[in-house]
Amino acid sequence: MSIFTKIIQGKIPSYKVAENDDFYAFLDINPNAKGHTLVVPKKEENKIFDLDEKSYLGLMQFSYKVAKAIEKAVPCERIGMTVIGLEVPHVHVHLIPLHSMADATFGKKEKLSDDEFQEIANEIAKNFS
Ligand code: 5GP
Repeated sequence: MSIFTKIIQGKIPSYKVAENDDFYAFLDINPNAKGHTLVVPKKEENKIFDLDEKSYLGLMQFSYKVAKAIEKAVPCERIGMTVIGLEVPHVHVHLIPLHSMADATFGKKEKLSDDEFQEIANEIAKNFS
């Protein structure tokens, strides 16, 4: 079972921003920038292009809606989208509020308090529809 499956099942806590039957979105615990969000399919799959086409398109559609909510909740130039997966072998889309190229590089990290994480998650969740 992946660490993200444990998060989805509530065995490990997360700052959830959105959920439906098939997908779960929550804040990255080591964010590149405030509001850095991960969107994952509940069905565990390692690599994004191993998803069947319907699941892939569903993931993109759900990510689109989450990105719209982040855009409303977090001031930034634009939302960047990245898929890597070298650390956690459970498909996830990174949605990152970008202020500069550095925010997209995974080299610069933001330290946030529990209250800050919770506040951002609430704000994104409020804007998700
Ligand atoms: P990747 O697999 O795309 O290289 O990166 C995995 C991402 O998952 C990283 O940005 C990392 O900070 C995030 N991550 C790893 N473990 C946890 C966790 O337990 N909780 C949360 N919220 N994020 C995690």
